[in-house]
Amino acid sequence: MAKNRALQQWRVEDSIELYGIRNWGAGYFDVSDAGEVVICPQGPKGPQVSIPEVISGLRDRGHDMPVLLRVENILDSRIANIHESFRKAIKNLGYAGAYRGVFPVKVNQQQQVVEKIAQFGAQFHHGLEVGSKAELVAAVSLMQDREACIICNGYKDEEFMDLGLQALRLGFNVFFVLEMPSELGVLLERSKALGVRPSIGVRAKLAVKASGHWTDSGGERSTFGLSPAQIVDVVDTLKAHDMLDCFKLLHYHLGSQVSNIRDIRTGVMEGARLYAGLIEEGAPMGYLDLGGGLAVDYDGSHTNYISSRNYSLDEYCTDVVEAIMSTLDEASVPHPHIITESGRATVAYYSVLLFNVLDVSVVEEVQLPESLPEGTPEPVINLRETLANISLRNLQECYNDAIYYRDEMRQLFSMGRVNLRQRTLAERFFWAIIMRIAQEKTRLKNVPRDLADIDVSLADIYYGNFSVFQSLPDTWAIDQLFPVMPIHRLKEFPSRHGIISDITCDSDGRIDQFIDPQGMKPTLELHPLRDGEEYYLGVFLVGAYQETLGDLHNLMGDTNVVSIRVADDGSYEYVREIRGDSVADILSYVEYDPRRILEDLRDTAEQAVRQGRITPSERFSIMQAFEDGLRGYTYFER
Ligand SMILES: *Cc1c(COP(=O)(O)O)cnc(C)c1O
Repeated sequence: MAKNRALQQWRVEDSIELYGIRNWGAGYFDVSDAGEVVICPQGPKGPQVSIPEVISGLRDRGHDMPVLLRVENILDSRIANIHESFRKAIKNLGYAGAYRGVFPVKVNQQQQVVEKIAQFGAQFHHGLEVGSKAELVAAVSLMQDREACIICNGYKDEEFMDLGLQALRLGFNVFFVLEMPSELGVLLERSKALGVRPSIGVRAKLAVKASGHWTDSGGERSTFGLSPAQIVDVVDTLKAHDMLDCFKLLHYHLGSQVSNIRDIRTGVMEGARLYAGLIEEGAPMGYLDLGGGLAVDYDGSHTNYISSRNYSLDEYCTDVVEAIMSTLDEASVPHPHIITESGRATVAYYSVLLFNVLDVSVVEEVQLPESLPEGTPEPVINLRETLANISLRNLQECYNDAIYYRDEMRQLFSMGRVNLRQRTLAERFFWAIIMRIAQEKTRLKNVPRDLADIDVSLADIYYGNFSVFQSLPDTWAIDQLFPVMPIHRLKEFPSRHGIISDITCDSDGRIDQFIDPQGMKPTLELHPLRDGEEYYLGVFLVGAYQETLGDLHNLMGDTNVVSIRVADDGSYEYVREIRGDSVADILSYVEYDPRRILEDLRDTAEQAVRQGRITPSERFSIMQAFEDGLRGYTYFER
C-alpha cells in the first residue's frame, strides 16, 4: 500500500491509517490538515492544539527537549468519563448503589497529578487509594472532599494505622483494608488506644486469575489478600470485640491491564459472592471495591491482546454493574456502593513524551565494482553470481547462499588466506544481495521467517534525545508497547524504516517493537532528516507507571515537564513548568556533592597553572565550562 501511495501522493489520511492514531487515541489525538499531530481534549469535535506549535512555544521559553507534556483537560475528561459511564450503567440497570472511584497513587505519584485528580475529582467524590505511609500523607494533604474515599491498602504497621485513624478524626472517609491477617490485631489495638472506630475492609484472594503481564497480583497464589477461611476469622475476631459493625468493605485486585472482559466478569461474580457471604455473616458492609485492571488500548486493536482490551469503558461499567446485580439479587442482598481503583485508564492518555532526533544511521546503498580484480577469491565470485541470479522464485536459496559465502570469507580472513580488501568486497556483495532480496520479497504473499528479519537488519537507527530507562521503563522491563509516531510532516510519505535508539550507551536503550493492526512490527515508518530542521517524535499514553519507575541510567535525569490547559476556544496556557534535573541534581542523587566537585576541580586546575600547563585565564574559562556543565540539562542540548 505504502509504495503505491508514495507514487501517487501521500495524504494525511494515509498517515492516520499507518500510525493508527484514531484507533489508540481515544479521540484525544488526531492529525490536522497541516500534517501535524493535534490534541483534542474535548474529543474530535472540540478545539484542537497542534503539538509542534506547543513545542515551538516551549523552545521560545527556553525549554529543551525531551519534554513530558501533560494535558490537564485530558485528565479531567478521563475522570468525568469513568463517572459518567458508571452513572449511565447504574441508571439503565436500576442499580441501587452509587459509584465511588479512587485513584491509586502509585500509578502516578507526582504532586501535580494527584493534586489535579483531587481537585477535579471532588465534584464526583473521586478519592485516592494509598499503599504506604508516604502515599497516605500525600493523599491527606491534597484531598479537599470529605465524602470521597481514602482506601488504605498495603502492609500497615502501627504508624500507618495511626496516621489513618487521625485522618479519620479529621473527617476523612478512610478505609483500612486488611492485606494480612496480622494487621487486624494492630488495627484493633491502635483504634482502642486512640478511641476511634475505624471502617474496616479486607482484601480477598480470588480463585480467578486474569491473563497478562501485570496480573500476578491476582489468583490464589497472590502474595496479598486473605483466603475465605482467614476472612471468616476476621468476622469472628470482630464479633468477639463487638466491632462487627466496622466491617464495611470487600476489596480484591485482579492485576493491572486486564485485557479480557471475561476475566473481569468472572472476578466480579466471585467478589460479589464473597460479599453476599459476609452480609450473611452479619457484617453491615456497604462497599464492594473491585481494584484496578481497567485496561488501556495501547495498540488500538480492540482485542484481548496484552497491549489492548476487548471492551469499551461503557461495556466495562455495564458488565460490572450487571454482574454484581445478578449475583446479589439472587441472594436478596442490597446493592453496595461500587468502588474501582482505576489508575492506568485514568492517567495514561494525559502525558506525551516528546523528543527530537539527533542523528540517523543508515545502511548505505553499496557501490559495486564493474569488474573484479585479478585473484579475487572464489566465494566473492560466487556472491557476485548469486546477486546476478536473484529472482522471485529463489529468494530463500539466494539468502542461504549469501550467508554461506560471506561466512566462508570471514573464515578465510581469520586464517589469513584473504586480505582485508577482499573481505570488504565480499561484504559489499553480501549487502547488495540482502537489499535486492528485501525489495523482491515485498511481492511475495507469504514471506519466509528468515527473510522477514531482513528488514530489521536494513532498518535505519534514529537516535532520539531521551532515555528509555528514565522515561519509558516498561518498554525495557516488560516489553510494553506504546504508540510512537512523528508529530509533524504527516503530509509527506515516510520513506524510511527505522528503529529508535536512546542516548544512553546501553544496547537495551531502544524501541524496536511498534504497534501495528496485525500485532507488532519491528520497524517504524519515519521521514528522512532534513538539514537544519528538527525532527520530533512523540511517545503517547505514557501517563501511567512510567514516571516514578524511571531510573538514572547513565545519569540521565528527569525530563522537563510541562502542563497545558486548553480553553474552549482552542487557546491554551502553559500552566505548570517543572525544570528537568540538572547535571548537579543528578550527581547529588548518587551522593556526590557538586560544591566539593568544583573545589576538587579548582585544585586540579590550580595545580595545572603552577605546572605551567595552562594560564590563569585559561583556568578561569575551564572552571566556567564545568560550572555551566553542572547547571545544564542532562540530555543533549542544541
Ligand atoms: C496497582 C493497583 C491498582 C491500579 O491498577 P490499574 O490497572 O492501573 O488500574 C489498583 N489497586 C491496587 C491494589 C493496585 O495494587
